[in-house]
Amino acid sequence: MAIAYLNGEWLAPEKARVSVFDRGFMFGDGIYEVMPVYEGRIFTLEQHLVRLGRSLGEIRLRSPMSDDEWKILLTHAIEKSGEQTALLYLQVTRGIASPRSHEYPQDVTPTVLITVTQAPQLLRDSVVPYRMVTKRDFRWGRGDIKVVSLIANGLLKNEALDEGYDDAILLRDGEVTESTSSNVFIAVNGVIITPPKSHFLLHGITRDHLVELARSNGLAIEERAISEAELLGADEVWITSTGHELWPVSEVNGRPVGNGEAGVIWQTLDRLFQESKSTYLRS
Ligand code: PMP
Repeated sequence: MAIAYLNGEWLAPEKARVSVFDRGFMFGDGIYEVMPVYEGRIFTLEQHLVRLGRSLGEIRLRSPMSDDEWKILLTHAIEKSGEQTALLYLQVTRGIASPRSHEYPQDVTPTVLITVTQAPQLLRDSVVPYRMVTKRDFRWGRGDIKVVSLIANGLLKNEALDEGYDDAILLRDGEVTESTSSNVFIAVNGVIITPPKSHFLLHGITRDHLVELARSNGLAIEERAISEAELLGADEVWITSTGHELWPVSEVNGRPVGNGEAGVIWQTLDRLFQESKSTYLRS
């Protein structure tokens, strides 16, 4: 059952109400996290809490809770929902302030919203690779902060959809940054490559987990810039995110990637990823 927590109150998500003066609504002045729930437990919880703390710090908002308090609250949210496979959204805004002003209000309590909603299990045989199109990354220069203002990501995703693609791979100054809600990996001659962390892309938890898995399993991996030409000539391309895990890409700009099917490196990494999940769930 979907459940929401809003500023101390538990209720059905559709019953949750936020003030029109909430700065999240007025200015997009807030940050969020999305966490994967498998078998009723949050996978990579510690990493998500670190990124949450970082996002809050970057927008100069003091966390309303300690990491231990977050853990208790998030665990409680999952228990209350009774969901086994779910996505947990946590949103923190700068709170309610009136009259509307760009200046940060003093002594305002941040708004905290948590929702837990059922997610479909990602069965690997039903993964249909994506057809992607490249687009210029015109977003602001702090894609590393997980801000609630996703207007540019939405515009780019919907442009891609309107053109008949599944999503866009974004290029800034001719180099790949990420996709509209996921990170990008390629494989060239057996080497895995993903763009390095910078202010221009979200430091994805799935991305980091995969980089670590590749390294600890002795696979060749480089965190370095990917040019448009290298993307278009890659043997394999895939995206990563909490909601999609590792998702293969069959086509970029109408040209097939490799033979147009999920490649062997993707398969290897996906197996390692699924194993790491099972190990965690058994721990
Ligand atoms: N980039 C963007 C722009 C995102 O919104 C997301 C999350 N949906 C990601 C990358 C992937 O991050 P994560 O693996 O932490 O879900």
